[in-house]
Amino acid sequence: MTLIKSNIHFILLAGGNSTRFSTKNNKLLNKFKNKTLLEHNLETIKKLNFAKVTLVINDLKLPKNISVYKPEIIKGGKTRTLSVKNAILHSKFKSRNVIIHDCARVISSEKLINRMVKLILSNKYDCIVPYSKCTDTILNQGKDMNRKNIKLIKTPQAFNRSKLVKLHKINQNSNLNDDSQLFRESKSQFKIKFLLDRNINLKITYKEDLESLNKIAKNEIRTGIGYDIHKIIKGTKSSFIYLGGTKISSKIKIISHSNGDVILHAITDSILGALSLRDIGTYFPNNKKNHKRDSVDFLNFAIKKMNKENFLINNIDLMIVSEEPKINPYYNKMILKISSLLNINKSIITIKATTNEKSGLIGEKEFIACWSSISLFKY
Ligand code: ZN
Repeated sequence: MTLIKSNIHFILLAGGNSTRFSTKNNKLLNKFKNKTLLEHNLETIKKLNFAKVTLVINDLKLPKNISVYKPEIIKGGKTRTLSVKNAILHSKFKSRNVIIHDCARVISSEKLINRMVKLILSNKYDCIVPYSKCTDTILNQGKDMNRKNIKLIKTPQAFNRSKLVKLHKINQNSNLNDDSQLFRESKSQFKIKFLLDRNINLKITYKEDLESLNKIAKNEIRTGIGYDIHKIIKGTKSSFIYLGGTKISSKIKIISHSNGDVILHAITDSILGALSLRDIGTYFPNNKKNHKRDSVDFLNFAIKKMNKENFLINNIDLMIVSEEPKINPYYNKMILKISSLLNINKSIITIKATTNEKSGLIGEKEFIACWSSISLFKY
């Protein structure tokens, strides 16, 4: 899509002051599916091969990883309208067409953008405006309105740049709803194309909007269980074991082909299970290569598969069954380690520990076992 690169300038507006959002932080830095709204939008713009990109910001501190991809930065104005004006008048990019998007909306459809690009590049239109239909009853000062005639206007919107610049220069209203308003209300005849957007193109205005978006994203849920058991023997004063990626001094030693981390093995199996990818032994058999291997390798393998399939962890519930060692003293350390290995929040992990009431081989301190139950959601 070389045409996109050369002929379209993408302006992302991230200068809003979040007054209707009840958290102290800028709403654009709030996370949806593990990434901020700003990261989501910049990533999609990059994926769509837009090379001329301007980010309009006020005093927003950019997350560190944004620096990997460097858009042109232009300071926003007091209102959205003035921010757009700053961007189109002061940008170094002078492409024939421009797309303007509000960062408070996560770009929901790459397809929609590609359609918009095709239409604006055809030079048949001055302005492309996506909209959705209204399904609710609308009352205007107590009177029912015909919703068939209602269009809910969205961004991104595409424009012929020189016409947009002209209209912004003569415009006196510093509080436009959006830029297509200039074309819609102008006395001159402009060719406007309204594009029906059937995607969930939700604007994040209130905290509840973000919660709704997260709920929608969690629709595809998977669950998996994992179980691991290892033989244990009496250790020496200096012996240690690995549990949850944490090295623990212990009176016991774990017998295993790898480093015998029952927690990480169980988590690995539960992730593979949730992805319908069989088990750890399928990928890491007892051979020379895997001898004394760090269990983190197995876990990273499963995480890679999970990332590839676009799944994230909803929560993870672990249960260790063992007489030794006592888990409580290491609980926080293990949770911290597992959260960093899985790159998830501590609040969605729990480790429960139980003895086997001195019964059976676990009760007689011959074995240590762990169960893992995991829930994943697609993003
Ligand atoms: Zn194991």
